[in-house]
Amino acid sequence: MAISKVKRGKVWAKSDGICWYCGCKLDPDNWHIDHMIPKAKRTRPPRDWRLAAKWKPDPNRGTDALRNLFPSCPNCNQTKTDLSLHDFKLRSGLRFFWFEKEGKQCYPNASTVLASKEDAANHED
Ligand SMILES: [Zn+2]
Repeated sequence: MAISKVKRGKVWAKSDGICWYCGCKLDPDNWHIDHMIPKAKRTRPPRDWRLAAKWKPDPNRGTDALRNLFPSCPNCNQTKTDLSLHDFKLRSGLRFFWFEKEGKQCYPNASTVLASKEDAANHED
């Protein structure tokens, strides 16, 4: 479902144009809306009727509700995909998320962190 322009504006305003995760400044022309709780992969019952009979939608699935939508840079959004927040933090190498930090200043962009990690990996041998 497409997210309306008004809703996009409200999501942007949550952080005033800062990535909710890494804290970098968002490009107004190129930023993503992240579903903090990922939307469920399966939204319809499985085809097999034996499984379908037992199937229920995941009660913890994310929705398009404003409370589940956060501004994110393309890099964070692509890294996060459908990972849990915990796994995303490990994957991205962020020490903490912008929203976890009091004062909410800017922190190194996840891409910088990832690039420096790759650099370190390349120099290992
Ligand atoms: Zn980010």
